[in-house]
Amino acid sequence: MKGGVLLARLLRFLKAAALVALLALSIASPVAGASEGPRYIFLFIGDGMGEAQVKAADLYSRASGRGELAFAALPARGRVTTGTAKGAVTDSAAAGTALASGHKTENGILNMDPSKTKRFVTVAMLARDRGMRVGIVTSSFMNDSTPAAFYAWSPSRTELYEIGKQLADSGFDYFGGGGLSRRRDRKGDGKDLYEIAAAQGCKVLRTAAEILAARPGEGILASGSAGALHYEIDRPEGVLSLAEYTRLGISLLDNPNGFFLVVEGGKIDWACHRSDTAAMVRDVAALDDAVKEALAFARDRPGETLVVVTADHETGGMSLDGEIEGSAFHAVFSRQRRSNESFDAEVAEMRKGGRGSFKSMLPALAGFFGLGNLSGEEKEELEAAFAQSMKPVVRRTRDKDYNRRYGPYEPLTMAASRILARRGGVNWTSFGHSGAAVPVYAVGPGSEYFSGENDNTGIGRALIHLLP
Ligand SMILES: [Zn+2]
Repeated sequence: MKGGVLLARLLRFLKAAALVALLALSIASPVAGASEGPRYIFLFIGDGMGEAQVKAADLYSRASGRGELAFAALPARGRVTTGTAKGAVTDSAAAGTALASGHKTENGILNMDPSKTKRFVTVAMLARDRGMRVGIVTSSFMNDSTPAAFYAWSPSRTELYEIGKQLADSGFDYFGGGGLSRRRDRKGDGKDLYEIAAAQGCKVLRTAAEILAARPGEGILASGSAGALHYEIDRPEGVLSLAEYTRLGISLLDNPNGFFLVVEGGKIDWACHRSDTAAMVRDVAALDDAVKEALAFARDRPGETLVVVTADHETGGMSLDGEIEGSAFHAVFSRQRRSNESFDAEVAEMRKGGRGSFKSMLPALAGFFGLGNLSGEEKEELEAAFAQSMKPVVRRTRDKDYNRRYGPYEPLTMAASRILARRGGVNWTSFGHSGAAVPVYAVGPGSEYFSGENDNTGIGRALIHLLP
């Protein structure tokens, strides 16, 4: 008995000694505020943005005179593995769940375990419960998987109407960027999602003027767009950018209790699915412009602001040739004036007309993509794709070779985009996601948690740990 009491005393003493040592360490810490942790937390997610996407966008940005990508130069860097509970290749639902909650799940599931019975709590929900303000900005639609992973639970990411209904229940302060998609439920008898949000006390702002005049308050839903925002390459004058929605978010969320703001560059993924290098590099730059808003805010609050930039997964199996030179790279992709998605409409017109020859189509290709001086091989590839594109969709034979070349997209558009990519030293090997690790960049208090090797659940857990 006596020995036990002594041991307990000794343990208590050791505990106390360790505490004193720990205290001395934290007092001696040379970094002001480092032991405090961040009060303002930004999480930027480039959907589909792997290492190669960042490298290509950085190359393009420098060569265009815009300068380097600001986020790629942040001091803390790491690599993040992205597999799901069972598989190597994730979708945005499972990856968003990992980043938001620190838990693995399966593709298609939002913030629930693979059995779809247990719900996970997200970093955004915890931030709200601790009195911080919370905001979500995306260039995709607001009930898409990545933004939804922070505010909703769903056994299926495709339940857009049910997910959209949860937005208003979240009690978050600000939603900005892309609007709600599938606003009425499948049966068509439900209320419009915006009406539901308004009925629950959300302030729904739909014009640029209304949005820019927004004042702080709970449940501001600001979207000037029907669904996702435009690709940056297509964004008309006067339509708010991802950076503008981010800046507005900062002004609405800023308060002494701190905030948590997620910003997703959602259409990087869309461009990568479609092998659209020119659209991708501009959407990464648009995300970088949004990061710059956060970095400007961080300069005003030194030692209090954590900025983390990462991706949920890589899209397109993209790689870069070894020896790419910036100005040549820029010359290839700056000639494409719009996203390749808008070229699909031109192809559809040709098909409808039914009398266009391959030769008569070539000027359109040169005009849209800047694809001239075709080699024999390029011509062959385009002619085969053109023949497919001129057939009605139902009459095409979608065999293995067809799917490898064009995926589910317009053959002529894909052939042209991939030829353009190759000319610039870019190789797209897939129309889907890959299992490649993604980069993470960070600055500010707590940024050391993000350097080195990590898993996406580790990113989620670190964010939760760092909440004040
Ligand atoms: Zn995707």
